[in-house]
Amino acid sequence: MTYDINNIFAKILRGEVLCDKVFENGHALAFKDIQPQAPEHILVIPKGPYISFEDFSANANDDEILAFFRAVGQVARDAGIVETGYRILSNHGHDGRQEVPHFHVHVLGGRDLGGMVP
Ligand code: AMP
Repeated sequence: MTYDINNIFAKILRGEVLCDKVFENGHALAFKDIQPQAPEHILVIPKGPYISFEDFSANANDDEILAFFRAVGQVARDAGIVETGYRILSNHGHDGRQEVPHFHVHVLGGRDLGGMVP
């Protein structure tokens, strides 16, 4: 599978589609999910062209991985959901029901999120 340069998150990174940005560092961008599943629902994406966690974990360099996961933690702190709790998740492939083929982590919080898998 090759990276689709026309996926919606690639367009956001190129500035062709607007997003509600909440955080950015050298290798990562975070913005609000357009269809939030919780009071706080933020997506964190790497700036590099990685299809999913499988691609990112295998091929990203150490600086990208460090900056990405620092961003995930910072987003949760900035959202004020550390004390009450939150969930991070990333869907990969068919069984994970990944919809957008650019690696992203969902950061969810602001309510009791229930059981881990519906
Ligand atoms: P996934 O199933 O993990 O690939 O989830 C993709 C997520 O991207 C969904 O939660 C969508 O609501 C979200 N999404 C799709 N398009 C946009 C957009 N333009 N801005 C923000 N979030 C989006």
